[in-house]
This record gives sequence, structure tokens and C-alpha cells, in this order.
Amino acid sequence: MTPTAVSSVYVHAPFCVRRCPYCDFAVQVRRVGDVEGWLAALAGELRAVEREGLFVAADRIRTVYVGGGTPSLLGPTAMEGVAALLGRERLGDALEEWTAEANPESLTKSVAAAWRRAGVDRLSIGIQSFHEPTLRWMGRRHGAEGAETAVRVARAAGFENLSVDLIFALPASTGRSWRDDLERTLALDAPHVSLYGLSVEPATPLGRAVAEGREHPVDEERYREEYLEAVAALEGAGYVHYEVSNFARPGWEAVHNSVYWDGSPYLGLGNGAHSFAPPVRRWNVRDWNTYRERTLLDRSPEESREVVTDGAEALEAIWLGLRTRRGLSEEGLGTSGAALAAAWEARGLATRNDGRVRLTAEGWVVLDHLVVELSEVVAP
Ligand code: SF4
Repeated sequence: MTPTAVSSVYVHAPFCVRRCPYCDFAVQVRRVGDVEGWLAALAGELRAVEREGLFVAADRIRTVYVGGGTPSLLGPTAMEGVAALLGRERLGDALEEWTAEANPESLTKSVAAAWRRAGVDRLSIGIQSFHEPTLRWMGRRHGAEGAETAVRVARAAGFENLSVDLIFALPASTGRSWRDDLERTLALDAPHVSLYGLSVEPATPLGRAVAEGREHPVDEERYREEYLEAVAALEGAGYVHYEVSNFARPGWEAVHNSVYWDGSPYLGLGNGAHSFAPPVRRWNVRDWNTYRERTLLDRSPEESREVVTDGAEALEAIWLGLRTRRGLSEEGLGTSGAALAAAWEARGLATRNDGRVRLTAEGWVVLDHLVVELSEVVAP
């Protein structure tokens, strides 16, 4: 098999100071990130990847995304380490975007300045809320002023390309005003905003609290109202709603994420990371210690893989197309699919223009449901 050349790389940084009660990501709780252990483990994985021959890093890398976890917990030297790991010579002129995630409490001046020097040109800051009791409920360590401070620190270090993450659909018990959080987010004037609805995973403290009746998640109507309120506020302020969860000022759309939405190949390094070398999708073990033990011996941390079949690929194409502003070609949907799209349009869930079907914000509220509906008639 000829190795797939990848020019987009995701690197997972697993450490968090504590686990937020709703989080089921591949996270290792540590007060201080182990940057040396992390880089050594990633280097071991990269050697195993090269030996295996499924992927080969392209001579020129286009996009890098360091996510977590809390990458900023790894401190100032982390991104220079990532550059050395991937090869400085590969991160030259062709590099279109290098994003790193940061949480407000660990985005210090020295972290921001060192990351910028290392070549990171986009920061994704997990602000989530400006409401102190909500931040405490979420287990976050930054205070109500944390977001503004983080954005100031980032800009002072030379970052123009900033994205901020906000969470919605939190239980009413938090007492959070969604309107206030939206207004303070707009005041940050970041060129990119990502919006995530709280999802209750059964194997988390929040999931258990909900099962025991100690917490009450919002109902579908409240979820819909908050989402639509955010869409109206952000679009009213000039942001383009270009993907179900993402908003950007024109020209500031995330480049790396579009790789996932286009079905392009990518390499994911780190515990729990996924990679895609069409038609093979593979993912690593989630547990940091297991990942580390294997990679330090240059063994592959792969947990499993699947070959994406034609049927699964068609389903995925529907899902990826509907979640972005790109939409789907109406012609490719056949008679039954086009009839369904027309019915969605009549219900305000989609538009049909220029031969393409695109979901509206109302449609994106029920995206998963619409994907299933369409796949039943187009890719049964
Ligand atoms: S900071 Fe993010 S990754 Fe870390 S525990 Fe909280 S939600 Fe999970």
C-alpha cells in the first residue's frame, strides 16, 4: 500500500488541571503538564507511524491543530517542541494555519509570546462563559474576567486570529444569562466564535447527577432558543455562520477544521487521536498511561481501525455536507432526496439555491435527525 501523504496534523495534549464534570475527552488530570514526557511519547508515535507505512508526513505541512485537554498547561516550550517534532523544514511557507487551544487561566504572557515565536498563528480560547457561578459549576478555574484578560494577552503577543469557545444549553440551576454571555463575547471582537451545546454523557459526573435527578438538563425547546439567539446575535454582528457550530468574520474561517469537513486525509497524534487515510480511519488508545507506555517503546498506540465502506462514505458525505454552509448538490440526491429537501424548505429547515441544499439555523438545530431522514432515502 502506498502511504498517504498528510499535510494536516492534529496533536492531542491530554493534560487538564481537573476534569470538568461533563467532560468525556481523553484527559489526564495533572496540576502541571508534563511537556517532556508528552513530546517523547509523540516522537515515539511518529516513529511507529513512519515504520507502519500508512501515512507519510508531506514535505510541506498545511495545517496543524494542537487541541486537548489543555495545551496551555504544557507551558511556553510546548509549541517549539511540536515544531521540532514535525520538522521545522516542513512548517515553512506552505503552512496556512497553526492553531493551539488555550484556557484563560494558563494562557500567560510568556506562553502566548513563546507560542507565537514558535509559529502558532491562531489561538482557540476556551472561555465558555463570563458568569462566575457558571464557571464554578463547570469546574473551570478562570474567573469572570478571564476571557477578556486572555484575549488581551493573546493580542499583545501578536495573535490576530483568535477563536473563542462558548457553551450553551446549561442547566437553569447555574443562573447564567445567555444574553449577557453573548454580549460580552461580541465585545471581545474575536474574528471567530465556536458554539457548543452541553451534551450529557452517561459516564461523567454530570451524567450520573442527571440520572439521579440531581441535575436537570435543558429541554429541546430551550436548547433551540439559545442556539437561535446566538445565531441571530452573531450574524447581526457580521459573523458568517459557516458550519453548524462555527461563526467567522469573512476570511477568518478555520482552515484545519475544513479538512475534516471535506473528507481529506489527516494524521492525529496523541492519546485518543483519530487519523484518516482514505478509506482507513483509525484511532489511538484513549488512556494516557497506556499510550505513553506503548509509544516510548516505539510501538503503535493504535486501538482500532475501520475501512470506510462505500455506504458509510455516502452517509458521511451527507452528514459533512449538511453541517457546512457548502451544503449538498441537489442533483446528487435523486428524486426522493430532492423531494425531501423541498419538504425541509417548506418547513424552514433548508434552502435550495444554485442547485444546492443548505440547512438553515432551524435545520441545524435538528441536524442529526435530518441526516438520518435523508440517508434513509439517499443511501439506504
Ligand atoms: S478543560 Fe476541556 S478537556 Fe479539560 S476537562 Fe474540561 S472540558 Fe475536558
